[in-house]
Amino acid sequence: SKLPEAERKHRPKVVILGTGWASLCMLRKLHTDEFDVYIISPRNYFLFTPLLVGGTTGTVEVRSIMEPIRKYCKRSDSEEATFIEAECVSVDPKKKTVRCVDNSTVKGEVSEFDLQYDHLIVGVGADNQTFGIPGVKENACFLKEINDTRVIRDKIIDCLETASYPGQPEKEIDRLLNFIVVGGGPSGVEFTAELNDFLQSDLLRTYPLAKRIKVTLVEALPHILTIFDKKIIDHVEKRLTSSDNTRIWTKTAVVGVKEKEITVRNDKKEESQVPYGLLVWATGNTPRALTTQLIKDIGPSHQNNRRGLIVDEYFRVVGTDGIWAIGDACINLQKPLAQTAQVASQQGRYLGRLFNHMAEDMNKQKIENAKSLSSAIVTTVSTTAATPLFKENQDFNDKLKNQPIFKYRHMGTLAYIGDHQAVAEFKGDSTTTFEGYFTYYLWRSVYFTKLLSMRNRVLVSFDWLKSTVFGRDVSRG
Ligand code: FAD
Ligand code: NAD
Repeated sequence: SKLPEAERKHRPKVVILGTGWASLCMLRKLHTDEFDVYIISPRNYFLFTPLLVGGTTGTVEVRSIMEPIRKYCKRSDSEEATFIEAECVSVDPKKKTVRCVDNSTVKGEVSEFDLQYDHLIVGVGADNQTFGIPGVKENACFLKEINDTRVIRDKIIDCLETASYPGQPEKEIDRLLNFIVVGGGPSGVEFTAELNDFLQSDLLRTYPLAKRIKVTLVEALPHILTIFDKKIIDHVEKRLTSSDNTRIWTKTAVVGVKEKEITVRNDKKEESQVPYGLLVWATGNTPRALTTQLIKDIGPSHQNNRRGLIVDEYFRVVGTDGIWAIGDACINLQKPLAQTAQVASQQGRYLGRLFNHMAEDMNKQKIENAKSLSSAIVTTVSTTAATPLFKENQDFNDKLKNQPIFKYRHMGTLAYIGDHQAVAEFKGDSTTTFEGYFTYYLWRSVYFTKLLSMRNRVLVSFDWLKSTVFGRDVSRG
């Protein structure tokens, strides 16, 4: 049951923050003719993060894994969501407004605005965790955004070119060619694997000094990839260290970072300094500043979790009215889930469907109300303003109780480990693991099919073919 035309201007206003996995998957499901939808994000594109690491070495080009968000805003003449490229800097849960600023380089006369919402969806993801270790933000490279891939690629080549300067002292060459990756989670492992591929297939052919490159993966825990089964951990540790250039330091935490050296501490609390040329930081997630501020504003009696906004089984942010959170920004304490694209996309799709069901329910009621109203009031009905029934969040919340709650379906975990090998883990009644070349093709096929558009699939296929046949590009810029 569609909303009558007269009621359309009273559609509830849904403001979605972010253009990542959770937000885009919700937007794609949402019936935008039932809601007045706004999307706010400093990024006017969606980024396919599972292939981001390949962008650091040129296995894929970054444009191949980006999707313009505006493409998903317009569905038909009557269904259009409004995208505004801005960063949401604060939320006022009492007034139900968000404050947004333009943080791009080109500024117009207006670069700040407030936007009213009936429903606010917080899908802002998470920030890089640095544990407040001094010097990390200033000196390390991260693995989160498109620009990070350009910075890393440029730095790898810059280190090699600088090391090749005539007269460069031996000690300085060793420093420049010491590449450190901090964090043995999936991001750190996949990056180490990509870097090793780049080194073996391309850099060794081009740079005489490349054989002196040392890649060190530093992990505070006794093992890397702790989310995986022990069998996989053993396999990956052996595989990554099979080349002379790569080593893993476990039970070693990085505790300080300077421009040219890091301080590491082992499990016996002994500290030492390690000089580096490239430092890549991948130690997990922390809430974004906006999420932290919102947690603080809602107050400790409702929100007190360090990982993100506590939500209920429908993704309503506990202690608020009309605020919802999905993806890396949220946590359900009853069923905490990993911070992955797989989880975020399912949550986004669920919330989109939930809103559609709610709209359908409310519209049915509205149409029935309108019918009984028009038979009772024959003369005044044309001058009566349409009642924005749906705007009442109380109604919305009452109806929510009839809706099914979110159920996560885990499809398995995959990770690339280099040299045309990947690992996979599927959990059912028991855990099944796979490794090797077959798994690599599985890894590629899964992510290939998950790419959102045919354009992306074609571009990524060409990139894979190009880097296999011609090698990766080693020029800077
Ligand atoms: P994101 O996708 O991070 O999106 C957040 C959005 O919010 C962005 O558009 C951002 O610009 C926007 N935003 C930020 N601040 C604001 C603000 N103040 N106002 C408005 N908008 C804002 N998961 C897997 O399942 N499989 C993988 O193989 C995998 N590989 C990964 C590889 C890497 C290198 C990384 C970093 C992550 C990987 N992940 C993977 C994890 C996955 O990417 C995240 O869990 C997922 O992106 C979370 O989705 P999200 O929508 O919550 O956040
Ligand atoms: P993570 O939290 O999974 O791992 C971070 C690692 O860094 C941990 O093992 C931690 O012990 C270590 N660490 C923390 N501080 C340290 C220090 N000072 N020195 C040395 N080691 C330190 O983080 P991630 O790998 O960035 O992943 C973030 C999220 O993205 C996770 O939820 C992950 O599952 C997901 N992801 C998934 C995939 C995949 O499925 N293939 C790929 C990338 C990321």
